[in-house]
Amino acid sequence: MSTAMRSRWAATVVASLVGVLAACGTSGPAPTAAAGVTTVERPAVAAAASVEPTVTPPVTPVAVPPEPAEPATIRGEVVLVALGKFPEDQLDAVESHLREHAAVDVRRMAAVDLPREAWTAKRKRYRADRLLESLEALIPDAPPTTRILGLTHVDISTTKPPFDDWGIFGLGRMPGQAAVVSTFRLERKARDPAHVIDRLSNTALHEVGHTFGLDHCREPKCPMQDAEGSIDNTDAANDEFGPECTAGLNAGFPIVLRPAK
Ligand SMILES: [Zn+2]
Ligand SMILES: [Zn+2]
Repeated sequence: MSTAMRSRWAATVVASLVGVLAACGTSGPAPTAAAGVTTVERPAVAAAASVEPTVTPPVTPVAVPPEPAEPATIRGEVVLVALGKFPEDQLDAVESHLREHAAVDVRRMAAVDLPREAWTAKRKRYRADRLLESLEALIPDAPPTTRILGLTHVDISTTKPPFDDWGIFGLGRMPGQAAVVSTFRLERKARDPAHVIDRLSNTALHEVGHTFGLDHCREPKCPMQDAEGSIDNTDAANDEFGPECTAGLNAGFPIVLRPAK
C-alpha cells in the first residue's frame, strides 16, 4: 500500500471514528449536575399537611422524551434472506452481528426456495456461484452500497483449482453485491448451538467483508483471515475486523450519515 493510500485511509478512519463517537454520545451516562442538588427545602410539603387542598394544581404538559437515537451512521445495507428453511435465532444472530461489526443496516427478506439450477447431482451440493447469481437477481436495482446475504443449511461448493467442486463455508463477490453462507460445515464438531451461531456470525461478517472489497488478510484473529480449508481460523477470530481491514473498509465504503427515509 502506498503512503498516500495509508494517509487517506487514516484520514477516513479518523473521520469515521468522530462520527461513531458522536453517535454514541446519546447513550453515555446521564448528566450528573442534578445529582449534586440534595438540599432542597420542603416547605411545600409541610404546608400541604396543614392546609386543605382546594385547588387541583394545573397539569403541566410534560415533554415527551425523544426516542433513543439509533446509530446515525452506516456504510451500507445488507438484505438478509434465508435460502430454504433456516432457523430464526440464527438469522437474528447474523443480523445483530452485522449491525454491530460491519456498520450496516440490515433488512430482512422473506425466505426463498433454493434454486434448482444451483443443484449439482454429482456431489449432492449446491453451487455457491449459482446461488450468488440468484441472490443478485433479488435486488436488481439496489444502490451500490447494498448487499444481499443468503443463509442456508445445505452444503455449498465452488471451483477451487485443482478441485472442480470444493465444499465451502461461504462465498462472497469481491467486491460485489452478493454473498452466501452455509451452516452445513459450520455444524461439524461444534460444541453446542451457540458455537454454531458464533461460527455463522463470523463467516457472515467475512463474506460481507469480501463484498465490500476486503481480501483475505494476515492480521492476527481478524475475521478476514483465509479459512484455509479448516474451521480453526474461524473459531479463533475476533468479532471485530483488524485495523488494516477496518481501514480498507472505511476507505472504500466510508461510514456516512444514514440517508433519510
Ligand atoms: Zn474468504
Ligand atoms: Zn484483517
